[in-house]
Amino acid sequence: PAPLRVIGQDVPVPVSGGSVPYANLDYAASAPCLENVRAAIDAALPYYSSVHRGAGHASQVTTDRYERARSTVRAFVGAWRRDAVVFTRNTTDAMNLLAHALPQGTTVVVFESEHHATLLPWQRGGRVVRLPAPVSPSAAVAAADEALASAPAGPRLLVVTAASNVTGELWPVAELARVAREHGARIAVDAAQLVPHRPFDMTALDVDYVAFSGHKLYAPFGAGCLVGRADWLRAAEPYLFGGGATASVGDQVVWSTDPEARHEAGTPNVLGVVALAAACEALTDWDRLIAEEERLLARLRTGLAAIPGVRELSLWGDLSPRVGIVSFVVEGRRARDVATELSEKYGIGLRDGKFCAHPFLRRLLGEGAGDCETGDGTALRASFGIGTTEQHIDRLLTALRRLGH
Ligand code: PMP
Repeated sequence: PAPLRVIGQDVPVPVSGGSVPYANLDYAASAPCLENVRAAIDAALPYYSSVHRGAGHASQVTTDRYERARSTVRAFVGAWRRDAVVFTRNTTDAMNLLAHALPQGTTVVVFESEHHATLLPWQRGGRVVRLPAPVSPSAAVAAADEALASAPAGPRLLVVTAASNVTGELWPVAELARVAREHGARIAVDAAQLVPHRPFDMTALDVDYVAFSGHKLYAPFGAGCLVGRADWLRAAEPYLFGGGATASVGDQVVWSTDPEARHEAGTPNVLGVVALAAACEALTDWDRLIAEEERLLARLRTGLAAIPGVRELSLWGDLSPRVGIVSFVVEGRRARDVATELSEKYGIGLRDGKFCAHPFLRRLLGEGAGDCETGDGTALRASFGIGTTEQHIDRLLTALRRLGH
């Protein structure tokens, strides 16, 4: 396949004294759109029409594209044919939908190192067991094992992120799924940061649910999905009450038993879903993508390690495998000030803050972290993917070496 191209990689941005092509190192927040995705949107636009409604040709074409997107997504994550693919707004929405669909009395086991989207929805109901960030992948498996073993009888759900949005580290999903199975529990995986970087196979991993967002997968904002077992979704009250989720409405409402229709009331984000599916279809050449990412990641990490005062954040040490996401602090400098300088002087876009993972940042930086080393308990995060080059990485390293000068 031809190399994939992203849109806007070289857009000129202002810096003091002129302008430079943008160095986007903030893919983990939202990745730029692929050219293939734009082409899919362009091809869908002439048939712009609502789904599931009209007999008109455009509506039928649009409905067909929308429904075919479910098969594309199913194939992309290796789901079973019987698994539901519910389109949502994003990963946050998908996790909230799953939380909403939990049977009464479900115990949810979750690590505190999760992104808030995956940490918090379970507080809506049920019993939540929050585990500390584990000291190693095997400790994660042992802690999940123990928590599931001591959970009260009834449904149990283990929730885990496949790749951390803070450290990029890969979690032992297969082993966690095995432990869940041993205890008759289900496992839900937040793959928001994994699927832009690695293939994922729910069937091979024996995973029950997976969620991810289009906007981190080289598609536009506003469409994501929850893929997984249909029974809880079919039994749960519709996520939204409204048109499309119903079988019939008279004095009584009969809701659709189709798990997808049931939770997708209202006119869906058809273009977002078409774009999401196009991104899934484009990401096939994994060997090449991974090799390129590993090369750039090694360059970035080696470079950072050689800069005095820069410290990379990692839960499991330098050697743990990870995707193209690196968080770090610069001693004696506030993360926000560094990010501003990188943008204003060098045209580099990266993220500073707590990355919607406050308990995890506290753990990585230490309780009293702060004031001197990191400013206010925040860090910087460089993240990248398709379209990133050595020049982008080197620009960041050079800028960090010259900070304050
Ligand atoms: N999980 C992880 C691991 C993430 O990185 C993010 C986004 N930062 C989310 C969930 C939430 O994704 P969204 O904002 O698209 O709902």
